[in-house]
Amino acid sequence: MASNCIFCKIINEKEALKIYEDEKTVCLLDINPISRGHCLIIPKKHFKNIFDISEEYLREVISTSKKVSKLIKQKLNATGVNILHASGKSAQQSVFHFHLHLVPRYKNDGLDTWPKSDYKEKSLKEVYQKIKK
Ligand SMILES: [Zn+2]
Repeated sequence: MASNCIFCKIINEKEALKIYEDEKTVCLLDINPISRGHCLIIPKKHFKNIFDISEEYLREVISTSKKVSKLIKQKLNATGVNILHASGKSAQQSVFHFHLHLVPRYKNDGLDTWPKSDYKEKSLKEVYQKIKK
């Protein structure tokens, strides 16, 4: 537990709106939802982001995201989900305790969760070679 981490604190509060919990993960409703049932999947152990989370906890978080997706499909009649994540300030991570946003989607909900970009890659081959070497 990180002493000044809001998620380490929230996951232990009785008032938290936990819709799912197991030994290593917890799922809370987001307090500022962007769709009905928008929730956060959080490892109970403190990890900053994708770069430092253990394989074990990452597996558990992904497994929980499937369970919660099924739960939301069944209980709220969602017809799809987006699973969103930010690691690092440049990715707009705002709480530095690893978490996934699970955003239920509904037919004609008007949400657009894919970032808009004017970026044009000059050379995919160069990118490929840099990563593969
Ligand atoms: Zn934390």
